[in-house]
Amino acid sequence: HVKEKGRDAIEFFNEDMADKVSAQLVMEGDLHRALEQQQFVLHYQPKLDIETGEVVGAEALLRWQHPEKGQISPMDFIPVLETSGLILDVGQWVIEQACQSLAIWSSKGLWRPGMTMSVNISPRQFRGASFVQDVIDALQRYDVPPGALDIEVTEGIIIQRVDEAIETMSTLAAHQVSFSLDDFGTGYSSISYLKRLPVSTLKIDKSFIRDLSHDRSDRVLVETIITMARLLDLNVVAEGVETAEQLEILHTYHCHSYQGFYFSPAVPEIQFEALLKR
Ligand code: C2E
Ligand code: MG
Ligand code: MG
Ligand code: MG
Repeated sequence: HVKEKGRDAIEFFNEDMADKVSAQLVMEGDLHRALEQQQFVLHYQPKLDIETGEVVGAEALLRWQHPEKGQISPMDFIPVLETSGLILDVGQWVIEQACQSLAIWSSKGLWRPGMTMSVNISPRQFRGASFVQDVIDALQRYDVPPGALDIEVTEGIIIQRVDEAIETMSTLAAHQVSFSLDDFGTGYSSISYLKRLPVSTLKIDKSFIRDLSHDRSDRVLVETIITMARLLDLNVVAEGVETAEQLEILHTYHCHSYQGFYFSPAVPEIQFEALLKR
């Protein structure tokens, strides 16, 4: 009996694995077509100054409209883009689109100096041979205002090859590109990297914001991160602000800015432009 069960368990496991692999392959095939068939679109989530309530920039977030399955979450398809290598083309497309929007908004006088457009970069894209040059080309092609482009990286980018990461970032920093450390607090060793990396902003992960109004240890952590960032001359952005209460707490901690459903989720380009005109 034990043997039977054991064998069944293995077969079940194998089938499950096979299902996952084939689902991944199907998605990979769909993603191959997605770029040429224009199924990707960028949405923009406003970043706001906590003190003044003014829009201080945006984060570009990738959306995939699947012809049959509807909108698929980036959490589900970005890992597939990464493993398949498609992230190189899609990631470059994201940079170009964001730069194009920036160019349009600044030519209309809607993008004020000091505002920043954040673009998420995944590890494989960051390490790509042409990454630095591709970003510089996009800045020039679209005549992006100096200082307007911000690149969001996670610790995953840095962990293996710190010196290479520093070099990549420094080269782009010389072209007025700024860097934000995304999902701050969720990795292992962020604090030791802070000293070495040319990062200008910390983004506090939304998992620390969610329970801010009733979890004392989250409050201590968030206040400590903000205090540390301020002492290190870094900007702090809180992610995932959904309530007035969370915003008020962040205000008392002197957090610089925030993003979240409380003000607005990521919205299509036209809607974001309307928001800039308000
Ligand atoms: P992220 O960079 O940390 O982006 C923030 C995520 O939080 C976004 O999810 C955003 O829609 C969501 N969010 C914003 N405000 C709130 C809120 O108040 N409450 C809650 N619950 N969520 C909020 P999204 O758009 O699903 O993106 C998920 C992740 O996918 C991003 O996390 C980022 O890591 C990745 N991603 C998105 N676009 C790109 C891209 O163009 N390139 C790369 N490499 N990664 C991307
Ligand atoms: Mg981000
Ligand atoms: Mg984040
Ligand atoms: Mg993230």
